[in-house]
Amino acid sequence: MGATVHSKLLSFSDARHLVEEYASTVSATSAEMLPLLDANGLVLAEELRADRDFPPFPRSTRDGFAVRAADVAGTPARLRCIAEIRAGATVDESSIVVGQSECAEIMTGAPVPEGANAVVMVEHTERSGESVILQRSVVPGENVVLQGSEARQGATMVAPGVRVNHTITAIAAAIGRPEIAVHRRPRVAILATGDEVVDVNLRPRPNEIRNSNSYSLAAQVQLAGGEPMILPVARDEADDLALLLRKGLEADLLLITGGVSMGKYDLVEQVLASFEASFFFTGAKIQPGKPVVFGECKSAEKVTPFFGLPGNPVSTMVTFQLFVRPLLDGLSGSKPQPLPFAQAALKSEFTTRTGLTRFLPARLLGSNQKPEVEVIRWQGSGDLMAASQANCYLVVPPERERFSAGETMTILLL
Ligand code: AMP
Ligand code: MG
Repeated sequence: MGATVHSKLLSFSDARHLVEEYASTVSATSAEMLPLLDANGLVLAEELRADRDFPPFPRSTRDGFAVRAADVAGTPARLRCIAEIRAGATVDESSIVVGQSECAEIMTGAPVPEGANAVVMVEHTERSGESVILQRSVVPGENVVLQGSEARQGATMVAPGVRVNHTITAIAAAIGRPEIAVHRRPRVAILATGDEVVDVNLRPRPNEIRNSNSYSLAAQVQLAGGEPMILPVARDEADDLALLLRKGLEADLLLITGGVSMGKYDLVEQVLASFEASFFFTGAKIQPGKPVVFGECKSAEKVTPFFGLPGNPVSTMVTFQLFVRPLLDGLSGSKPQPLPFAQAALKSEFTTRTGLTRFLPARLLGSNQKPEVEVIRWQGSGDLMAASQANCYLVVPPERERFSAGETMTILLL
């Protein structure tokens, strides 16, 4: 073998930036038409255009009375009620014209009749026979959304490259599209390594542990719009690794866990180097996840990016979110999305060592007035229990040791 890999240890932000740049240039998977609910979570590969004006008529946003604003300038005002207009009103009903000193009873979602230019909420009115007493004045346009004011017929409502969520799904439904074009889910090969690692359906011997990383990664890949392919666990042995790495490189992206640290049997990088892989970085100044590796392997047919993620289960999860997720965005046809950072007050003081950007399992608590973050006690980056109790990571900057209660800290939402 004998191939050497020069070490490239980057700061967190340099490593993240490098992945984002790479992710912005990779070619996206091909497009396919899918039924609306199968497209949820995938990236739009076409423009969604308004098939008619939105809204298609001037729409009342309240139950109340459609009026000419000038008629209710002085309150209370008494107007003659000439009609009732329900949501879904037919052309006949909507051909009503509201004249001076007249109004029409109207429901939310119904077309505002000609002549009227505002709606007074029913709460501010009183019925009196044929008339209505209005206690509040309104400005022209109040409680009315004008025809085409959200989108004109033919206008782009959603551009390609946007990840489909419930809102995009609603727009597709609203423009009459039961099927939409989205990018195919990138295929992501997942290769766990380690002589001590056995699959979930085997009974581990006392010195063995079950493979949880392949499953946590597959779950993260699914949520990120990818299609996971779990490979058999590789032994810490060059030939077995080579065979399975070659298989994994047939996918759109290869994720390897374990075997990238400094141990004598951490052979992943050496074997990849023997395939003439390029390494963009071989470590990031973060905890957990410092040994994370990012590179690509070129063959005659294709280029396959790969990540070597550290084997400790929490390191695997964190490095997926920090580095793999943006590349999956790129492969899926979207721009890499920014990490969901937020801020919260630290619940209790703590100390740490400088030099690494830390992502510590934590809980976001408190109210909308005062969000607070509490670090979860953990036994280090193998502690799945601690990770399972977290709903965010506390992001600890690399240059300080001591943090006091009440300080505003950055958190990374899960
Ligand atoms: P490594 O990165 O190979 O040095 O592994 C670091 C730690 O993570 C060791 O304690 C491994 O036993 C554990 N580990 C490695 N791979 C897995 C896996 N697939 N599932 C669960 N734990 C793992
Ligand atoms: Mg190992």
